[in-house]
Amino acid sequence: MSTKTFQDLITEVHERGICQECGGCVSFCSSAEYDVIGLKDPYKPPEYINKEKCLECGICYYICPQTHILDNELNKTYKFTDYSSMPIGHYEDIYSCQATDAEFLKYGTDGGVVNSIINFLIEKKLIDGSVVSKTEAPFSREATFANSKYDLLKASGAKFDISSQLDEIQKFCTYTHSIPELNHYKFKKLAVVGTPCQIYTLRCMQDLGVTPSQNIEICLGLFCYENFLFDRSQIAKFEKDFNIKIRNIEKINIKEDLIFRLKDNKVIHVPFNHLNDYMRPACNACGDFINIYADISFGGLGSPDKYTTVITRTEKGKDIFSRALEAGIIKNLDLDETKKKKMIDLISQYSQSKLKRQENFMYNL
Ligand SMILES: Cc1cc2nc3c(=O)[nH]c(=O)nc-3n(C[C@H](O)[C@H](O)[C@H](O)COP(=O)(O)OP(=O)(O)OC[C@H]3O[C@@H](n4cnc5c(N)ncnc54)[C@H](O)[C@@H]3O)c2cc1C
Ligand code: SF4
Ligand code: SF4
Ligand code: SF4
Repeated sequence: MSTKTFQDLITEVHERGICQECGGCVSFCSSAEYDVIGLKDPYKPPEYINKEKCLECGICYYICPQTHILDNELNKTYKFTDYSSMPIGHYEDIYSCQATDAEFLKYGTDGGVVNSIINFLIEKKLIDGSVVSKTEAPFSREATFANSKYDLLKASGAKFDISSQLDEIQKFCTYTHSIPELNHYKFKKLAVVGTPCQIYTLRCMQDLGVTPSQNIEICLGLFCYENFLFDRSQIAKFEKDFNIKIRNIEKINIKEDLIFRLKDNKVIHVPFNHLNDYMRPACNACGDFINIYADISFGGLGSPDKYTTVITRTEKGKDIFSRALEAGIIKNLDLDETKKKKMIDLISQYSQSKLKRQENFMYNL
């Protein structure tokens, strides 16, 4: 059998509308300096740039979350069997946590735990920094590098003042193209924060031992039910559908639904099933809600307001989390087994629902 190449990704993934734009194929191929493919438009699947230079190595095909070639390898490494017996993946423990630093807590999406842990790892010199997502405006983010508390807080974009740039924004999206950004920091030890599709492609690269994954010290995975993308022509419809002016949004969070905090402190919850017109279509083809291959997974679901749900998975994740807890940079709620079970049941419910959506979508494709 001949080796599959990027041409096969075009036929089997892009043309079927299931490219998750995780950026894995571009990150590998450009970090290996083949420069064969690239993201000409960040909101579309990658394309050939220099097709004639393709070495037909097949790596892009192997590391794509939509080909599932390495599922068995990853499942072995991350001790995952299947969703029916393990709906939230293999895990060591589950917590509800909050940053003890007032600024990380104030500007955090939920409990400010992810940024607190990244900052702790930087201060302990366990990493040189992290690729994170800089919030420019509601539905407008870009990947950036943070190696200090200042950078982390700056990226969190606590307050949006978008009057000047609103007219220039062409696409409104909650997703961040952070994986190709890794190529800029080749000689550093990095933490990566990512959605399940992004962590999947990185884990595949690590499994194959290909660049730039050797620089990754820890994978901090976010829960992810879906992401949103719409263009200028849909703004008026969006604002009418939800009775919200984009310029009045102060903060967006994705938890059990999409949550808008407005500048007048009003909070509006929009259920996922009201958002189908704005959802990235390829998210329908994704089954992992809780980031089963991360070292630690983080989400808001299951925890009270301003707390983050934390699921430790690997030995490395468990170790880093307990050091952060011991150092007092985060604190956790005292959860008994009944409360933990309630959280696990709720997260499992979302996990199963996302899986069902994927099955239906793929069946009808
Ligand atoms: C796109 C997206 C979808 C999500 N969907 C859900 C959901 O359906 N249900 C749920 O319970 N939780 C979801 N989450 C997770 C939740 O919104 C919080 O991110 C999580 O609870 C951590 O909160 P925190 O306050 O501890 O993190 P913080 O301390 O605020 O830190 C978050 C860090 O993550 C970085 N970051 C965010 N996205 C990226 C990215 N793609 N690439 C690189 N860095 C990134 C930020 O820059 C910041 O440094 C989602 C998050 C994102 C970004
Ligand atoms: S060189 Fe390899 S990784 Fe790059 S496009 Fe060709 S097959 Fe894919
Ligand atoms: S690796 Fe990611 S960006 Fe590349 S084709 Fe697959 S899903 Fe799309
Ligand atoms: S639902 Fe989340 S993890 Fe899945 S493809 Fe969309 S952004 Fe990626």
